[in-house]
Amino acid sequence: MQLELSAEDQAFREEMREFFTMKFPQEIRDAVTAGRELTKEQIVESQQTLNAAGLAVPHWPEEWGGRGWSDLRRHLWNEEMQAAAVPLPLAFNANMIGPVLAHFGSQELKERFLPPTANLDIWWSQGFSEPDAGSDLASLRTTAVRDGDHFVVNGQKTWTTLGQYGDWIFTLVRTDPEVKKQAGISMLLIDMTSPGVEVRPIELIDGGHEVNEVWFTDVRVPADLLVGELNGGWTIAKFLLGNERVGVAPVGTTKRVLAQAKELAGAQLEDPFTRARFAELENELLSLELTALRVVAHSEGGEPHPASSVLKLKGTEIQQAVTELVLDLAGPAGLATGEGAGVPEWAHLAAPTYLNMRKASIYGGSNEIQRQIIARTILGL
Ligand SMILES: Cc1cc2nc3c(=O)[nH]c(=O)nc-3n(C[C@H](O)[C@H](O)[C@H](O)COP(=O)(O)OP(=O)(O)OC[C@H]3O[C@@H](n4cnc5c(N)ncnc54)[C@H](O)[C@@H]3O)c2cc1C
Repeated sequence: MQLELSAEDQAFREEMREFFTMKFPQEIRDAVTAGRELTKEQIVESQQTLNAAGLAVPHWPEEWGGRGWSDLRRHLWNEEMQAAAVPLPLAFNANMIGPVLAHFGSQELKERFLPPTANLDIWWSQGFSEPDAGSDLASLRTTAVRDGDHFVVNGQKTWTTLGQYGDWIFTLVRTDPEVKKQAGISMLLIDMTSPGVEVRPIELIDGGHEVNEVWFTDVRVPADLLVGELNGGWTIAKFLLGNERVGVAPVGTTKRVLAQAKELAGAQLEDPFTRARFAELENELLSLELTALRVVAHSEGGEPHPASSVLKLKGTEIQQAVTELVLDLAGPAGLATGEGAGVPEWAHLAAPTYLNMRKASIYGGSNEIQRQIIARTILGL
């Protein structure tokens, strides 16, 4: 396998690095480096800065803002963004509904939604999961019943990330209860300001408000907001979930956080056990990076490679191990709570970050499910 970059690709990498480190708002990068939660305004400003430079949706079809880059260049763009502590474009917009609309949407839906989706003028939420329909997504029960030129939607979604900021939500709904469960699902776009939509916060173990329940009570949705075919939603869901998994191993971010941790460790690096933990994680990250390149090399043509499940599994395990290391480095200072607790900011944030990162092995398809995919499609078990 050829792992050295060509001169052109190396120049491309440097061009990306220069933009992200020299031309992107420093204040936002500082907030990411410190591990602080970004405001909605910062996330929007970030994506709009990227979009103005043609760097928010380079993987979309060129007609809608894509750049026609090779998979390797897309990988380099993504890695350099993470290394420079630039927030990635909002996944719901850039990686989920955008590619879905570009692929399955009518011309009218594309024209109406793709430009504001790229520019984050519309903030999308993902309304897939329901109580009892997470890993077993096809069991979802939210119904959409046709009434004239509308659908009437009733049901409940859960774990809706940042739903409190959402303008629109892309949902999977049951449109035919009589057939095999996968065959009776459709995708609908719903304006979250419609009467009957209610977003309720879920408080998490780290004290943050990141996820929500979304309830639908007799919500009337114009029928032209159906994406693709009636009862064709399962195919669209599989397309979307495949894309979701590809971007889910944040190698660049984990490398940056581990390097930061090494600086923060100070005298603790004298301890052989701590040094061994760093060495092991650095080696694991290097292997992960090579796997990511292998996946890129075999994904040409846009189809996710099955090894993307390995990336999801190992990527999230290493990500969690790094937050655990940082918490151990913080020691008793990691227990301090409240503003102005008299400890450095990184130590103060270590415990909530550690707790928050437990989510990574669940969302985007839980790690147990990834193990099953690996067993079936790679190991042939
Ligand atoms: C922080 C966070 C944000 C999220 N954001 C969103 C969002 O914005 N929109 C959205 O639609 N969803 C979102 N989700 C939902 C996420 O996709 C689901 O949580 C995930 O698919 C798992 O489903 P579940 O929670 O119902 O768990 P379950 O499927 O009930 O699983 C419970 C446990 O059983 C295991 N398990 C289940 N089935 C099997 C099996 N067949 N074999 C072996 N083990 C199994 C699972 O791995 C898990 O450990 C989010 C989740 C989290 C944690």
